[in-house]
Amino acid sequence: MTKRLTGFQPTGKLHLGNLLGAMRPLVAAQAATDSIAMIADLHALTMEHDPAQVRANTLDVATLLLAAGVDPHRTPIIANSQVPEHTELHYLLECTAAFGEAARMIQFKEKSAAGGPVRLSLLTYPVLMAADILVHDVDQVPVGEDQSQHLELARTLALRFNARYGETFTVPEGIRPDAAARIMDLADPTRKMSKSAPTPAGRIGLLDPPETIRKAISRAVTDTVGIVRHDPENQPGVSNLLAILSACTDEKPGEFTSYGALKREVTDAVVELLAPIRARHAELSADPGHVREILAEGKARVQPAALATVRRTKVAIGLCL
Ligand code: ATP
Ligand code: MG
Repeated sequence: MTKRLTGFQPTGKLHLGNLLGAMRPLVAAQAATDSIAMIADLHALTMEHDPAQVRANTLDVATLLLAAGVDPHRTPIIANSQVPEHTELHYLLECTAAFGEAARMIQFKEKSAAGGPVRLSLLTYPVLMAADILVHDVDQVPVGEDQSQHLELARTLALRFNARYGETFTVPEGIRPDAAARIMDLADPTRKMSKSAPTPAGRIGLLDPPETIRKAISRAVTDTVGIVRHDPENQPGVSNLLAILSACTDEKPGEFTSYGALKREVTDAVVELLAPIRARHAELSADPGHVREILAEGKARVQPAALATVRRTKVAIGLCL
């Protein structure tokens, strides 16, 4: 069966884009793929961070994955910090990667240009991401545009290592989520909805109450064209609302005579989609011990194969076991 790894950074509160673009596709593919859901808590340490917040976010991402329908018996949920083979392979891959390759990464350039001290891990984390993928012999990685350069690096490192030291890694393939599931910021529909966007105005949190959702959608930026149609180039806001509607309902949107009518329908669809997730999240949050157990079980499930990959890599690269 095809092995797939879907990653989430515990850098903030999960939003509708994460649900429609990553969590629902993960749930939908559970029966047909061998998927792993990974919370990249190590990645959250590459920028200024609050320790308590990262820990809370990690548990919250795991809780939300369960609430959204990830079945931990089918799909192990892991934190990359809890499976030490990720960091072990990271170092071995650093000995395969060049400094210039890491320094060329657009995300490194952007984030390091923001001012303040730049953590060394910000430079090397794409290599950690390569290790996250390669350690599990993954065939497919769903990646948004912002991660495609990092996925390309993972492929380059795997190919280079295999060519230099012998067949060791599966070379992963990036798969693009459906374009309709790329959700844009409601306040600035030319940017994707992001956890780390400076203002939360354009974001719908998965745990937002209905009233907050209604307000956010009613304030969503549209245009002055006055016709409801899917035209991302000229009407990005309206097109985003239509994309949200069709992703929430799994149906082609009907006809709308006004932006107000469209917004009301989008609000109803989002509220309906999120209500059971919120309810399940509240139940699961009452027992955080259970969520920690799920992470421990996920680790136990994936670790034997990860250990085998690390041993294979060590032997190939010239280390004694
Ligand atoms: P950050 O701003 O910290 O990078 P993020 O919102 O981009 O946060 P990630 O943790 O990087 O979230 O991504 C988790 C998953 O959600 C990935 O599979 C990513 O492709 C997907 N994803 C993120 N934002 C969107 C979006 N706006 N629409 C669809 N999918 C998204
Ligand atoms: Mg991201």
